[in-house]
Amino acid sequence: MKGFEYLQEELDQMQEEGVFRNLIPLESAQGSRVTIKGKNVIQLSSNNYLGLTDHPKMKQAAIEAVEKYGAGTGSVRTIAGTLSMHEQFEEKLAEFKHTEAALVLQSGFATNQAVLSAILTKEDVVISDELNHASIIDGIRLTKAGRRIYKHTDMEDLEKALKETQDYRTRLVVTDGVFSMDGNIAPLTEIVELCEKYNALVMVDDAHASGVLGANGRGTVDHFGLNGRVHIQVGTLSKAIGVLGGYIASTKTLRDYLIHKGRPFLFSTSHPPAVTAACSAAIDVLLEEPELIEKLWDNTKFFKAGLEDLGFDTGISETPVTPVIIGDEALTHKFSDKLFENGVFAQGIAFPTVAKGKGRVRTIVTAQHSKEDLQEALNAFEKSAKELGIL
Ligand code: PMP
Repeated sequence: MKGFEYLQEELDQMQEEGVFRNLIPLESAQGSRVTIKGKNVIQLSSNNYLGLTDHPKMKQAAIEAVEKYGAGTGSVRTIAGTLSMHEQFEEKLAEFKHTEAALVLQSGFATNQAVLSAILTKEDVVISDELNHASIIDGIRLTKAGRRIYKHTDMEDLEKALKETQDYRTRLVVTDGVFSMDGNIAPLTEIVELCEKYNALVMVDDAHASGVLGANGRGTVDHFGLNGRVHIQVGTLSKAIGVLGGYIASTKTLRDYLIHKGRPFLFSTSHPPAVTAACSAAIDVLLEEPELIEKLWDNTKFFKAGLEDLGFDTGISETPVTPVIIGDEALTHKFSDKLFENGVFAQGIAFPTVAKGKGRVRTIVTAQHSKEDLQEALNAFEKSAKELGIL
């Protein structure tokens, strides 16, 4: 069929530059090892931090929910698609996060879009870290609010932005809790102190911190002892929590407002019962099995130290998100392919997901990996890098 030839040209160009990527289907369940193209490889690319995607308690909860409530809900939340289990889970989540209320949305991406587009008008300004996640950037694009971008985790630049925006009604400072491509933690205490000084509000996206940082994985706010001082916490239920969805944990006012004005919430069907039941069981797992988080951090330290001992540049990572910085985009993808040949699945990430010339193979270890898995992975990193002349 004719049409969109210019798109094909762009794709052909990407092929030529070595940056065109095919989707890579897993032929097994998610886990510390997965099967891809019939090959058993060590998985270092998932966000399944605690290995909850196939936790027996969560699978059981999902199965029971399907039996009792069926496969789908048949409506958006505001019409006929709110099950009592949706509201029970939100109450449980709010209690877990030490906030007044919580609301669950279809995904973390949808949550940022819903929150930012609903609560800010042209009377307000949003002040955002330059390396915030795409869903925050797109959420901001949907508002008519003023925008200021501050240099990555640069508190002087943030203070400058706060000083220059005093005339707006609401100033909302937004930051990722853990930055998804570099694995560093936002300086949340300093951000909160500056916001208190200049009477601004704070929103943190804990997608990569939920289940990872803070007591029982409560996130960065808890990690820094800032409960009650951060106005909006958002996050995802699809990474450490192991299922699907996004949430906002905040005040009852914000929850009620989003139920009326959050467009992805209003116009998209609610989560199937199995999803909500599994997410709810995940909170129980976080409370009952804190050793999973200990194992995650133990594995993280082991693997990061191993990479650094080999001479790799892991950037500014402080969390299980550990990039191996390569630089050149095509070489990054070649390195990822070589790792696969040598038994490791670690995806190359390049422009536009990260800046040009900052290509990296991003690794994420999980609580499911054994030390043997990780040592085997380190050996593969060394072998692959030597084969490509990277080390
Ligand atoms: N925020 C951040 C910081 C993320 O890393 C992600 C996931 N890539 C999201 C939001 C989106 O979450 P979800 O996958 O649940 O849509």
